[in-house]
Amino acid sequence: MIQPIQLFSTLAPKKVQSNKNNQQFYSVNFATKPDTFERTEPKAKNIAPAYVSFLGYAHDEPIRALGNIICPCCGVEMMTQKQMNDVSKRLGNTSSQAVSTLKNYEKYMHPVEKECFNMMKDWAKSKPDASLKDLLQENKEPQLIKLQAKQNTILDNVDIISKELSENEQAEVKKVTDITRKIVSSTDKEIKFKRKTFLKDIDELQSKISNEEVYAKMRKEAEKMPTSQNDVSAFVVKYAERTHQEIGERLVKLSVGTIEHIKPRSEGGRNMVSNYMLECGGCNHERSSIPLGDWVDSHPEMKENTQKYIDEVIKRINDGKMKGFSFYPAAVAHTLFQQSDGRLDLKVEGVKEED
Ligand SMILES: [Zn+2]
Repeated sequence: MIQPIQLFSTLAPKKVQSNKNNQQFYSVNFATKPDTFERTEPKAKNIAPAYVSFLGYAHDEPIRALGNIICPCCGVEMMTQKQMNDVSKRLGNTSSQAVSTLKNYEKYMHPVEKECFNMMKDWAKSKPDASLKDLLQENKEPQLIKLQAKQNTILDNVDIISKELSENEQAEVKKVTDITRKIVSSTDKEIKFKRKTFLKDIDELQSKISNEEVYAKMRKEAEKMPTSQNDVSAFVVKYAERTHQEIGERLVKLSVGTIEHIKPRSEGGRNMVSNYMLECGGCNHERSSIPLGDWVDSHPEMKENTQKYIDEVIKRINDGKMKGFSFYPAAVAHTLFQQSDGRLDLKVEGVKEED
């Protein structure tokens, strides 16, 4: 694989610049030649020391500063950390205060959060002085019943899939689903269903099951267990136990732009700009270290959204808002192309040359 550090060296640096920490780096002029950039094998072997320091340096401020740009993964416009801090400061103690603050940030909310917020707005009308926690607590019961029904359906489906296995194997599966059923319907407050634990139990079944195909089907069904990120009932049930402040923050928290390592750090992805993308906290957290190719397969909308992201980045570069970063669109497009095994093949066009 072509390492970005070699790749950067294929084109002559234009001039040396300093960032605000006084670290020197070269401003590179290959954004206007994406074809050369993407298709040429590295030739030069000698890399200037300043280059190494620039590429090794986690220079992510200009990426973070992209701020209100769409998430290249889910396509929702992202919030800045500054906006998030503003939300945190203005939630007050009552639902009416929280609602009036959060209304300004509604467009950043993800679908589940938006739906929960709409419910909270309704509930707050009759109880403006109650806290968000009080509202969730009062309305938790029907959501809990809905959630349990969904969880039980998934457990039943896992059992149904296991019917293709031997009787002994079926019994092993049943052990896990039965324990989980008890946890799901437990009225003991100390006993809480944890999706992670359930999936771990399913993972442990793998060595006991001979038919890989059936196991994979079961695993896939088990992954459908609702989370507070993808299910309103799960959100209400989980956050009814949190504070007013936490609930209010949670409605927008995952919309804040975060630095995504396109090649995950755990896979050897480096802290360098060409490996960075601004991505909403929700997608970043959900992807974790899943290889990009697999992630794109399960999130096909990314093809369109990464292009929109890059187009907006180019627009900002051309508007003079990202000085010294004209290399970024081609560099990040290259990383996306490589890491997704060609699934993300972006057009990088019209980047104006910097003086
Ligand atoms: Zn996202």
